[in-house]
Amino acid sequence: MSAPWPQVCSANELQTDDHTPMVIVGAGACGLTAALALHRLGVACVVLERDAFAAGSTALSSGFVPAPGTLAQQAQGITDSVALFADDIQAKAHGQAAPHLVQAYAQSIGPALDALAVHHGLPWQVLDNFLYPGHSAHRMHAVPEKTGAGLMSRLQAAADAAGVLVLTQAQVTELWADDAQRLHGVGFVRPDGQTERIRCDAVLLACNGFGGATTMVKNLLPEMAEATYAGHVGNDGSAIVWGQQLGARLADLGAYQGHGSWAVPQGALISWALMMEGGVQINAKGERFHDETQGYSEAAVHVLAQPGGVAWNVFDDTLLAFAQEFPDFVAAQGAGAVLHAADAAALARLIGCPHEALQATLNAVQSGTDPVTGRHFNRALQAPFHAIKVTGALFHTQGGLDIDAQARVLREDGTPLPNLLAAGGAARGVSGQAVWGYLSGNGLLSAIAGGHIAAHTVEQLLKDSAP
Ligand SMILES: Cc1cc2nc3c(=O)[nH]c(=O)nc-3n(C[C@H](O)[C@H](O)[C@H](O)COP(=O)(O)OP(=O)(O)OC[C@H]3O[C@@H](n4cnc5c(N)ncnc54)[C@H](O)[C@@H]3O)c2cc1C
Repeated sequence: MSAPWPQVCSANELQTDDHTPMVIVGAGACGLTAALALHRLGVACVVLERDAFAAGSTALSSGFVPAPGTLAQQAQGITDSVALFADDIQAKAHGQAAPHLVQAYAQSIGPALDALAVHHGLPWQVLDNFLYPGHSAHRMHAVPEKTGAGLMSRLQAAADAAGVLVLTQAQVTELWADDAQRLHGVGFVRPDGQTERIRCDAVLLACNGFGGATTMVKNLLPEMAEATYAGHVGNDGSAIVWGQQLGARLADLGAYQGHGSWAVPQGALISWALMMEGGVQINAKGERFHDETQGYSEAAVHVLAQPGGVAWNVFDDTLLAFAQEFPDFVAAQGAGAVLHAADAAALARLIGCPHEALQATLNAVQSGTDPVTGRHFNRALQAPFHAIKVTGALFHTQGGLDIDAQARVLREDGTPLPNLLAAGGAARGVSGQAVWGYLSGNGLLSAIAGGHIAAHTVEQLLKDSAP
């Protein structure tokens, strides 16, 4: 039988003798973290990845992962705690993030990063030269490349070194379940168009969310319907479609990571650190329109509401030197995103806005609190100015399958499905129910902490079901 995508099929008809204890669908940060943890726990698994090589949204990301109490933080003398991190997550989400997941992720992300460092050689560094919005400690971890591509290549190298089987060009299209929603296997399509099947004792959906599913975005996130999607196209909402067929509960579907600093036409991420350190966003009327320090996610909506759906990131020489510490910024600069203006008049010509309005806006950027937006500035911007034209983009969705603190997918009535787990972008996150709930790093937090937790749950599940 050949099933259309993505389908739940009746386990009675599954015909194959191939078997592995655990199947992981998707080889992004979540899938590979889970696979490495399972390897350490002595549980065999196969990671099935639709693409020709493991990348996902993780490789497109900046690769920054927030975590409290890690070895890397200790080595850099940074004081932090699980409770402080959990409070920051909830504060950003206005108290609407699922409390059990906030607690589970805040607790597990440190051990997850430490395990990747100690057992698999990931050399985490804590970015300690600025704070992302909403974080009250320096806790953003990155590999030395400071890119998501660097993170993915290190995870893939670790998987190779551990002998973890990652089967690429294997798009999972079928989940085989019995009447009690217990999964017995999966089917995946190979490059020759044939569907292969394998039996298993548990499945982890690590195949991210629905950012690449245009119709779902239109229906669930109407304000992002026309926005550029900067994530991986393979995030096609299949976890949700499978979940619906299995009677799973969905949660937080209105939450997502937007970004108000996507350079156009280059199509590149401009680090929000530029805004946090004193840069401003100015629209085609020469005006600022929000407190940029509130967060880059909701900034996407604010920027899209401006004339033409664009704004200009404006900054000065000091900030240019600071931003050039970020590889993503340097790449965008190389692509011609950064334009220059000797003074306010030249900047007005560049933006195409009235000089007087722009001058008044720049005059208001002074040490102290701006009465219009409530933003606090430490200093004024000094000519010459630099400017990048940006729009608001959708990075990834934060709603999905409802899960418990062990990453088990829940039914509508709140009971867990027997052996289906979900984590990362496939599951609900910790950002509440709307764009403003996203604390920077919530994406990789859910992916890495969730993958780590899921692996431990599966180990226990298999022990419990052993004859
Ligand atoms: C530009 C950008 C910058 C970002 N920066 C950050 C950041 O600095 N920090 C942060 O925390 N978050 C960031 N994010 C969000 C972050 O990238 C995601 O939250 C995270 O990568 C999700 O990890 P994941 O493993 O769940 O999904 P992915 O990394 O997307 O992995 C999912 C994998 O599943 C595969 N797959 C999908 N369907 C199937 C199928 N049916 N069968 C087999 N394989 C399948 C996909 O091909 C993919 O490889 C950023 C996102 C973007 C777009």
